[in-house]
Amino acid sequence: MSTTVRAWGAPGAGKPLEPFTVERRDLRPDDVRIDISYCGICHSDVSTVTGEWGERQWPLAPGHEIVGVVSAVGSEVTGFRVGDVAGVGCMVDSCGECEYCLAGEEQFCDRRVLTYGQTMPDGEYTQGGYAQQIVVREAFTVHVPETLPREMAAPLLCAGITTYSPLHHWGIGEGSRVAVVGMGGLGHMGVQIAAAMGAEVTVLSHSPSKKADALRFGATDYVATSEEGALAGARRRFDFVLNTVAAPLDFAAYLSTLRVDGVMCNVALPQQPFEAPVRMFTNQRRSFVGSLIGGIAETQEMLDFCAENTIGAQVEVIAADRINEAYDRMMRSDVKYRFAIDASTF
Ligand code: ZN
Repeated sequence: MSTTVRAWGAPGAGKPLEPFTVERRDLRPDDVRIDISYCGICHSDVSTVTGEWGERQWPLAPGHEIVGVVSAVGSEVTGFRVGDVAGVGCMVDSCGECEYCLAGEEQFCDRRVLTYGQTMPDGEYTQGGYAQQIVVREAFTVHVPETLPREMAAPLLCAGITTYSPLHHWGIGEGSRVAVVGMGGLGHMGVQIAAAMGAEVTVLSHSPSKKADALRFGATDYVATSEEGALAGARRRFDFVLNTVAAPLDFAAYLSTLRVDGVMCNVALPQQPFEAPVRMFTNQRRSFVGSLIGGIAETQEMLDFCAENTIGAQVEVIAADRINEAYDRMMRSDVKYRFAIDASTF
């Protein structure tokens, strides 16, 4: 048995999204049913439905930046009640037993199941948050503080945790000198979160056009990297460089902006192989690292941190029939800074 709910998704790789229906399973004892209010649009959604990230079963509803209201809970659920505002991010299942799950880092579990386009242990194929409702295990559901507007909270479930986790993991705090490369959906969250952690934040962005917004998000400096010698002028300035740009980068030039013991962390996935002279590391004891979303407990911590600091995504709310247009605009970087779909329009 299951419930049929309205959704939007792609009927095939590279096809425009259109309305269809998905089946949500009947509640198991540890399940929560959420009536979705908003779902953010992430670049991963676009990369998945174009087929760029491999074969999927079709039709597929993407969406892993989900906020809504709990409308039913299973018999063994203790942490959520009907009426609670709840969120679901990039994962909906993991083994629960491996060292990573036990450490609250479910994102590294070999049996982790993503919110859409993957298969649960019982064979259910996951369909994402471009839908009226979702049924999720309590262990993968988080509380969204009521003070956060829901549409601004939705992108926190992916863009927020993706930037919070590395800033937290590498100990960014009062006085840290942080550079955020790129100020799109991820970058504009990284700037706000790093600034709220007490860091001195510089935005490294291609053009000068986002400077006023960067300062409004809490940055104290802005470097337009398209200007001749811009990165050379930032030599050995930063403790931490967070790269949110998937376009090809001159990694060596960015590494040169790190101080001794500085770390450059990638949360975007440039297609180009990494290349930089080894002396970029030895000379200043620098590191080049990556980071992938964050664990469930850490996602809750991030949401509480954002509520405490009054941080949210800057969103443009759209109706479902504008999803394809939104995807086109995202490809042209024409969004400030995230789209959120009003789920009442599915
Ligand atoms: Zn995402």
